[in-house]
Amino acid sequence: MLLGVNYQYQIVGEILMKQTAGIHHISAIVGHPQENIDFYAGILGLRLVKKTINFDDPGTYHFYFGNETGKPGTIITFFPWINAYKGKVGGGQVGVTTYAIPPGKLSFWEQRLQKFHIDYRKTERFGETYLQFEDPHGLKLELVERQEGERNNWTFGDITPEVAIKGFAGVVLLSVHPEQTVQTLQHVMGLEKIAEENSFIRFQSIGDIGNLIDIKVAPQERGSMGVGTVHHIAWRAKDDEDQLQWENYIREKGFGVTPVRDRNYFNAIYFREFGEILFEIATDPPGFMVDESFGSMGQQLKLPPQYEHHRSQLEARLVPVEVRNLDK
Ligand code: ZN
Repeated sequence: MLLGVNYQYQIVGEILMKQTAGIHHISAIVGHPQENIDFYAGILGLRLVKKTINFDDPGTYHFYFGNETGKPGTIITFFPWINAYKGKVGGGQVGVTTYAIPPGKLSFWEQRLQKFHIDYRKTERFGETYLQFEDPHGLKLELVERQEGERNNWTFGDITPEVAIKGFAGVVLLSVHPEQTVQTLQHVMGLEKIAEENSFIRFQSIGDIGNLIDIKVAPQERGSMGVGTVHHIAWRAKDDEDQLQWENYIREKGFGVTPVRDRNYFNAIYFREFGEILFEIATDPPGFMVDESFGSMGQQLKLPPQYEHHRSQLEARLVPVEVRNLDK
């Protein structure tokens, strides 16, 4: 009888074990919005899939860049703050954001960085070569060749689908308490530890993009939020029902988690893990075509309904920006 009870408990335990597909989006703080657009659209060739405002600070923009459709796992979002303080990259943050490019295309990207006079260095990790560089505001980025992940059919300037960034390869996490973050990745987010090398541990999620998460083994000195730093990393939930399960699950695991917040293009919950990195869980639906068509995404300033009647005042406060082809 006792055995039966234990058996049932294990089954229940397995059902309750949750796994995220991987990274949904990454949100960072940067400087001038036009410099931000020139770098991510003009040089990296990502698509500006949404131009909206910071819902908590409606006098500033919120930009979303991704692949042609803005699929989860490809989206980086920016809060551009003109004249704001520079942050410090450190513990409690995503240290490096890693993008996946098609196999054999690293030399194309090396030449492209040279063309735009962007300093870079090559480094090796887990048998892969990484091209590391910074955006104009100090955000740390890297490119790595990956077989996985569908091709990005967005064409802009000299960037064609053959060479285009597919989306996130992963991230390097910097934790104030790495052993705690490791526990959270394994036992809360449901990632699998697949390798350990020198100063890094590598985890894998079940998706095919945004799926390899590296963490520095050594505790990192605490970073500070500001220009050039990542604000949070969001993980994928399948839908609203899945997200409610995540909310309960995270609370049961002992974290303080926010109620669901409507972000127009996904629903979001947030919690700070014990290594001090801010985690979000975001739903895959509805996505960026909820208020614009595929062809027109990113062209107009989109406002949530509560701000629509203030459109003219809000637009007057925002600096004009445009997506420019820098290869002409
Ligand atoms: Zn977010």
